[in-house]
Amino acid sequence: MSHVVVVGSSYAGIAAALELRAKLPDSDKITVVSASEDYLFYPSLIWIVQGERELSDISFPIRPVLEKAGVSFISSRMDVIDAENKTISLQNGQVLPYDKLLIATGGVWQWGTIPGLGPKPNGHTISILSPWAAEQARADWQALLANPGPVVIGVAPKASLYGAAYEFALNLDVALRKADVREQAPIVFVTPEPYLGHFGHDGIGNSRHILEEAFVNRGIAYVTEAQIDHIEADKVVLGNRQQHLPSKFTMIVPPHRGIEPVCAVPNLGDEDGRIPVDDYYRSIHYPDIFAAGAAVQVTPKVSTLLPCGVFVPGSVSSEMGRVTAVNLAADLGHGTHKIKPPTDIKSLYVLDSGGHGLLMSLGPQSWLNVQVNIPGPWSHWAKVITEKYQMWQIQEGRI
Ligand SMILES: Cc1cc2nc3c(=O)[nH]c(=O)nc-3n(C[C@H](O)[C@H](O)[C@H](O)COP(=O)(O)OP(=O)(O)OC[C@H]3O[C@@H](n4cnc5c(N)ncnc54)[C@H](O)[C@@H]3O)c2cc1C
Repeated sequence: MSHVVVVGSSYAGIAAALELRAKLPDSDKITVVSASEDYLFYPSLIWIVQGERELSDISFPIRPVLEKAGVSFISSRMDVIDAENKTISLQNGQVLPYDKLLIATGGVWQWGTIPGLGPKPNGHTISILSPWAAEQARADWQALLANPGPVVIGVAPKASLYGAAYEFALNLDVALRKADVREQAPIVFVTPEPYLGHFGHDGIGNSRHILEEAFVNRGIAYVTEAQIDHIEADKVVLGNRQQHLPSKFTMIVPPHRGIEPVCAVPNLGDEDGRIPVDDYYRSIHYPDIFAAGAAVQVTPKVSTLLPCGVFVPGSVSSEMGRVTAVNLAADLGHGTHKIKPPTDIKSLYVLDSGGHGLLMSLGPQSWLNVQVNIPGPWSHWAKVITEKYQMWQIQEGRI
């Protein structure tokens, strides 16, 4: 009997655990360990600040889904990986032995990379990256509506979550117009990308054209190759352009780095704590450790003036989880290996702008590369349908 431990219960971890259950015999045990009891549908976090969603609308307990599928679940944080003795230690004091370990822990936001970056009291920006931070930002949003002024939204160098920043800026534009205060609240978007819609991929089809057009039509100014020096309560200061952007309401996506227990194991992670893997999503240095999703090292194929992270959507993380599970099972003697690097995984991303949007499908074959400009409120409804459908799929254990 083998024991496989999957750490993380989001896109990559759930997909991997369910696929493993389908591939391994009942005598093999699968345990998911996660710091979170609930599954959270991240794409809908952009709607929390303005009160369009509550946390209870976009999350649900994950334990019943896993236990119904025959997977054990432990709700605790992994603190230590002992790769030599093949055990992990948890915050609750448990030490779990494993035959194979699959790390699907995403990463940790690096607020310390720019002075003033981060929610109060440590910084001067709001955050949409966790439900609690987004809820906290509601007071800042109300203050902006009551006393409108300039807004800066964007992405820090090395960060990769461009889509959420674009969507947030475009949705904010719509909300400010609805509140009839848009003229008093100019929006500036800052990004390290060489052009809008680069996404660390050198663009996705005609994403550049679509985003530039959307920003011009909405009157959203933008600064590309923006090196943010520091952020104050009333401004964002760009180092490379000596520019001071006044701001009453600032949201900047920080870079993301691998979790501490990964960084602590020699040669498991790179300098950013991302796990370099072989063709089978197996750690280069530890053959019994696999990794999937945002925890994996994905290096940019194109160089840029400022460091730009590579955007890895949730759909790609899930598929990485499934492929990793297939290869892990094959290493245990069940089935055959499969090669599918992240760049060969078809991704689907709906970019909602509140009033006009973009459905992007990116794949290895050119016919899979589809970018559809969606007029009117359809992009919003496409995103709502995606939210409902994907949450239903996971609750049913069909991811
Ligand atoms: C605001 C926002 C909007 C987004 N919008 C979109 C979108 O519209 N479309 C899209 O495709 N993608 C979107 N994404 C990106 C998508 O959410 C990520 O690609 C996806 O979450 C990555 O999945 P993952 O499973 O690799 O890691 P994560 O989702 O980061 O999950 C990591 C898991 O590991 C657990 N964990 C972490 N550390 C430990 C530890 N030490 N011990 C135990 N467990 C641990 C966590 O609790 C969690 O369960 C968005 C992300 C954000 C934040």
